[in-house]
Amino acid sequence: MKIVTVIGARPQFIKAATVSRACKSAGITEILVHTGQHFDANMSEVFFREMEIPEPQYHLEVAGLSHGAMTGRMLERVEQVVIKEKPDVVLVYGDTNSTLAGALAAAKLHIPVAHVEAGLRSFDLKMPEEINRILTDRISRYLFCPTPTAIENLKNEGFGRFPCQMEHVGDVMYDAALFYLEKSRSLKSILQTAGIRQPFFLATLHRAENTDQPERLREIVTALNELHREWPVVLPLHPRTRQQLAALQIPLEVTVLEPVGYLHMLQLLEACACVLTDSGGLQKEAYFFRKPCVTLRDQTEWVELVEAGVTTLAGANRSLIVAQAKEATRKAMNFQTPLYGDGQAAEKIVSILNHHRE
Ligand code: UDP
Repeated sequence: MKIVTVIGARPQFIKAATVSRACKSAGITEILVHTGQHFDANMSEVFFREMEIPEPQYHLEVAGLSHGAMTGRMLERVEQVVIKEKPDVVLVYGDTNSTLAGALAAAKLHIPVAHVEAGLRSFDLKMPEEINRILTDRISRYLFCPTPTAIENLKNEGFGRFPCQMEHVGDVMYDAALFYLEKSRSLKSILQTAGIRQPFFLATLHRAENTDQPERLREIVTALNELHREWPVVLPLHPRTRQQLAALQIPLEVTVLEPVGYLHMLQLLEACACVLTDSGGLQKEAYFFRKPCVTLRDQTEWVELVEAGVTTLAGANRSLIVAQAKEATRKAMNFQTPLYGDGQAAEKIVSILNHHRE
């Protein structure tokens, strides 16, 4: 069994880390392709090093282009790799341009596509991620779903009639959090090195829907600045957001960090009082660490968190963000239900792929 895995963005490195390890244990040959979508050392290299992800065999070096150009160039380069490597399956993760390019290149060459984190929907086609998810799902043979909601979404779109296999395996990010927790605890504390006092809010902000709309960005940052006067707001800042804030001259009065590695992120998650984020991954990680989350978006794919009452949607509304964050730190919440599987998602995925026959 030979798999070509296409990754390129930060959350994909984290997801791929667990599956790559499981592939290795199962004796599967995995060829890693890094598209180059995220290339800064602290957005890419740190994850490979800390999480012991094998060095990619291919670096496609596609970055910094418009969506169409980026996806097109990746498509062209992934196709060359797939033609050369002739894998049994091409594996893609999540919802970025690298996901879509990898899936499309493979499907056109009649190589089965396996999509990890399939079936998620925000039902907002303005989000580039939603377009990538829908198209990738439609051309995938294996749809590895993290939640029952994801399976339901696919069924509602008629996937039951398509030649594909839908599997509810749980979330590989939960596997990652469990696996790397010990390692993160043995690392020197970022709280100490960055002088972070508890209690604090942990924030991240990078979605195009927020960074590319000045009014939304301004509202959110004003809310974070306001909260910071009560408790520190610690914000590992995404390069795109940093650029936008500078261009729009929006003052940021919180504790700003460079993007941190995953192990430091786990330390911050373990120590914080509450998470404020527009990240998909971080909403779930807040839950893994039993922390309330204020989601800086109008909707979320992780609806079970909202239903469980541990995540609230504040959008980009300054007063809502502040009120929900304060409320979240006071309220008792239940984090008992295992919403994201049993920490064995990667093993399940690899076992299914290992039984793949044409
Ligand atoms: N993350 C990280 N360092 C940071 C910010 C995020 O390690 O400075 C991790 C985070 O813990 C999660 C993943 O990156 O595992 C989420 O990635 P991101 O927010 O970029 O993408 P999304 O989840 O929204 O697709």
